[in-house]
Amino acid sequence: MTGRSSAELEAAGGAGAEAAGADSVRDSLLRPQAHAAAIPSSSRFVAMMRVGETREPREPPMPILSSEALTRTYVSGGREIAVLKNITFDVPPGGFLAIAGPSGSGKSTLLGLLAGLDRPTSGRVFLDGHDLSTLTEDQRARLRAERVGFVFQSFHLIPTLTARENIQVPLELRGEDGRARADELLARVGLADRGHHYPAQLSGGEQQRAALARAFCHRPRILFADEPTGNLDDANGQMVVGLMVELNRELGTTVVLVTHDHELASRAHRVIRLRDGAIVGDSVH
Ligand code: ADP
Ligand code: MG
Repeated sequence: MTGRSSAELEAAGGAGAEAAGADSVRDSLLRPQAHAAAIPSSSRFVAMMRVGETREPREPPMPILSSEALTRTYVSGGREIAVLKNITFDVPPGGFLAIAGPSGSGKSTLLGLLAGLDRPTSGRVFLDGHDLSTLTEDQRARLRAERVGFVFQSFHLIPTLTARENIQVPLELRGEDGRARADELLARVGLADRGHHYPAQLSGGEQQRAALARAFCHRPRILFADEPTGNLDDANGQMVVGLMVELNRELGTTVVLVTHDHELASRAHRVIRLRDGAIVGDSVH
């Protein structure tokens, strides 16, 4: 398998959680507007509730994801390399954002920060109402387990489990009836008759569709996908992105898709283009 495993990415998030947590508490005391972004003030909440009565223009929904002046610097051979520079954007609930850009432009680094798998050098991420910098590693892991789905380039299915079991087992670990839901999801991604096959018996496109079914099994609020079509041919890539578009529409799941394929990116509501760690394009469709 290529790419970083989810366990490796999980491990990458750990260092310095307590120190950064203390900093961010101090920062949010000094900067009350940071709180306002996460929690509506009572007057703002009342205003939101009154929108229907007074026919005032509707306020935009609270973002489900906000990236606020994110930077990430690596030290390599004694030199500092700025891999991400001042990245700021919001994603509304139910949005479909594509992050595009050439290899090495910082896409995976950004996705890791947005999902709370890695910590920024400066700046902050708000995910589903939580300032990630104020959470411990355990709290971030719990937030991911409950509300976040992931899809990776190299599928990351467990090779010793069938396609159905790859979906069923995580559900049963949560105490849900995995079998019925696994079958329902396999049917949804066009694999109704392949549930008993092991990953090695499935094509790349089929494996990625099974991984997509697994990523959606716990009804995440937000799905992060890092080049999910990178190992697929055009037709299978189109099919996987088409399914993500449909699931985003049907289930209202927010999707953040990393791709270097401009055509696939254009299926998103909005495309942010990165180059050398900076946003060089931002288009809304
Ligand atoms: P992309 O996903 O767009 O291909 P990445 O986010 O993986 O780009 O990497 C962006 C840049 O950061 C690359 O130049 C890469 O070499 C560098 N980089 C990524 N991880 C590390 C690390 N752990 N240490 C040093 N440099 C890194
Ligand atoms: Mg990458």
